[in-house]
Amino acid sequence: MQIEKYSMGIGDRFGRQGSAQLKAFMQARTDGIEIVPVWNKSHREHTIVHTEPDAVRKEADAAVAAMDWKHSYYVDADHIGLKTVDSFIESSDFFTLDVADFIGKNGDETDIRRFVDKYEKYAGNLNIPGLDDGISVTCEDIKRIANKYLPAVHEAARIYARIAKVKGSDNFITEVSMDETDEPQTPMDMFFILAAMADAGIPAQTVAPKFSGRFNKGIDYVGDVDAFAKEFEADVAVVCHCRKEFGLPANMKLSVHSGSDKFSIYGVIGEIIRRYDAGLHLKTAGTTWLEELIGLAEAGGVGLAVAKDIYAGAHSRFQELCDPYATVIDINEAELPTPSEVFGWDANKFVAALRHDQLCRDYNRNFRQLLHVAYKVAAEMGARYFEALDLCEDAVARNVAENIYTRHLCRVFS
Ligand SMILES: [Zn+2]
Repeated sequence: MQIEKYSMGIGDRFGRQGSAQLKAFMQARTDGIEIVPVWNKSHREHTIVHTEPDAVRKEADAAVAAMDWKHSYYVDADHIGLKTVDSFIESSDFFTLDVADFIGKNGDETDIRRFVDKYEKYAGNLNIPGLDDGISVTCEDIKRIANKYLPAVHEAARIYARIAKVKGSDNFITEVSMDETDEPQTPMDMFFILAAMADAGIPAQTVAPKFSGRFNKGIDYVGDVDAFAKEFEADVAVVCHCRKEFGLPANMKLSVHSGSDKFSIYGVIGEIIRRYDAGLHLKTAGTTWLEELIGLAEAGGVGLAVAKDIYAGAHSRFQELCDPYATVIDINEAELPTPSEVFGWDANKFVAALRHDQLCRDYNRNFRQLLHVAYKVAAEMGARYFEALDLCEDAVARNVAENIYTRHLCRVFS
């Protein structure tokens, strides 16, 4: 199984928007942009919403049938590890092996020595096609990287083997992710991580490093866009070079776990991948859930009332909802509207505060981030939430499709 050049990971917390999401990909096809969808859902999301991995497979299959989608699509067991992978194996065909927790765990001395012996030939000025300056590498660098990352790569090999034993080694897509950690990986780190992955026999088709800057949930990138562009370009060049150098899959590409909506870097990402003729997996999550809320609010009446109640619930449970996401949200509590203010809002005001339109005066990134992590409140509403979605289906589906097509697919891939 080989993933196409361009793919986009789409989350759907409640599993209702598969067809609306797919509509965006179909619209892109009519513009001549070929991108395949990957429905992703992590163990954490399943736990909060009380769903099983199989539900994502069912949703994807149903959407594909309903929309008569003739192209590839995948179901991603997102951010799984040895402890959580088993229940995903049957229904998924894309696996994101999250080994961030194993970075910096004490590595085996013999492994490290063997790695340094094998790769010290790269010490000096490492020439990477496309990069003017190359990368300056010392033996100490190689040792430090081996010590830090070999345990993570070896863990990825163990998870990969577990899946391959059940599914057969060629029947799924492997992604290795190291993004959920504190320190970004540099392009030099990436070079040697890819060498280690090749040694460990992991046929990863996508790799998700942690990039510099803040990738907060649902809001724009926070950081130096020029510095990001430099780093991203070096990573793309390293991946392209290492595929041949180490005999990795020829279609290996970067996966950007965007946390959704990193609009200010979408342009440079698109420009760089086209310049290098490189592939890209853009993984979002949660942006569809926020469009559900926007659709509900826009429809007014029952929908707007549900959206307001979810905000009020989230506001009163701020700590509980935000704690699990502490490293990926930055909410200024002083700028959150009180629930009683929000109860006084009309549909337009609610939509304007939530929709990710940075040119709109009423857009409130704090409001948006809190609602991003508030899907637990909607999950607990149960039937009332789902009935509102049914009632407001047109407005919800329109916003979901429009968001993926206009704000994401067009901005990155066209
Ligand atoms: Zn991630």
